[in-house]
Amino acid sequence: MTTHYTGLIERYRSRLPVGEKTPIISLGEGATPLIELVNLPKRIGKNVRLLVKFEGLNPTGSFKDRGMTMAVTKAVEAGSKAIICASTGNTSAAAAAYAARAGITSFVLIPEGKIALGKLSQAMMHGSVVIQIKGNFDAGMRLVQEVAESMPVTIVNSINPFRLQGQKTAAFEIVEELGRAPDFHALPVGNAGNITAHWIGYSEYAGQNTKACVFCQGACAYQQGGGSAKRPVMLGYQAAGAAPFLRGAMVDNPETVATAIRIGHPMSWKQAWTVKEESGGWFDECSDEEILAAQALLARTEGVFCEPASATSVAGVLKSLAQGRIPEGATIVCTLTGHGLKDPDTAIAQSTRPVTVEASREAIEQVITRNMAG
Ligand SMILES: *Cc1c(COP(=O)(O)O)cnc(C)c1O
Repeated sequence: MTTHYTGLIERYRSRLPVGEKTPIISLGEGATPLIELVNLPKRIGKNVRLLVKFEGLNPTGSFKDRGMTMAVTKAVEAGSKAIICASTGNTSAAAAAYAARAGITSFVLIPEGKIALGKLSQAMMHGSVVIQIKGNFDAGMRLVQEVAESMPVTIVNSINPFRLQGQKTAAFEIVEELGRAPDFHALPVGNAGNITAHWIGYSEYAGQNTKACVFCQGACAYQQGGGSAKRPVMLGYQAAGAAPFLRGAMVDNPETVATAIRIGHPMSWKQAWTVKEESGGWFDECSDEEILAAQALLARTEGVFCEPASATSVAGVLKSLAQGRIPEGATIVCTLTGHGLKDPDTAIAQSTRPVTVEASREAIEQVITRNMAG
């Protein structure tokens, strides 16, 4: 039997809103590794099972591909010739790639100077019409909604309900790999679409209802079953300078090194509060220093290189473990939303500079001796 993997829509076809004739636009997204951390729990002296779902290994390097395969598939099915999004970077990279694959036009609005280099290069390379605005993500999001009222373009931000339908499949994969839902699931929160999508996925798998599913408005055809299986406690972690869920109100000038979650007016505001309540979870915030420290810790102790925003889930879990909010013995999954190569500038800025030496054997041996000793 051949097992050529052709993406998450084919894999979870029966659980997604696609028909026999839907033209599927896929780049083989999904099926990302769930990596058990072996060194970090020892390092922090906690007896926990800690796993990371490395979404940075999707085709364009972030979980946005899960939503984009669905959003672009449905846009093409509906006859759309162009898509548009506001983005902190990764949505634009995914929109650009899937639009290229579909042969349609993509317009992406990005905040001038506040997008990581790798993401910008992707949007440009895939032939997107890149529009830099002198404003932040929230301003871009407002503009996209206004423009889509009069122009023939489909919005592919997470307010497009098909996005969350695609993204919910990450929860399916986790339950299938673990054989059950984890006790806790931690995510970085920007627009809060992904934490909502995961909760929808876990709920669906457990045969339980959730009011967070805007797609079905409470009447989802998939939500059937016994309603007995366990769902995780959902943990949403924000960057302290962009933490509307901690302030209990929108934030007008969000700032953080984690540009992917530099968002003050989350689109899935109501849904994410529902997720917190239904799951018995919480929101917490991490400073930029804590986020970068977690990013470096993952890279140096586990060999996993994620982008700064992604490390917020791990930074948050480390904090909640230290506070005893997450008990010993727990199984915890952290979503690592994007790949570290997305943001080379931030990585290089916090790393040891390369040493420059003469091209001689002695010089190299000296460096080895010096570093073995230390
Ligand atoms: C989009 C994104 C997030 C935030 O996800 P939301 O669904 O907006 O909460 C976090 N990390 C990375 C790397 C992202 O690209």
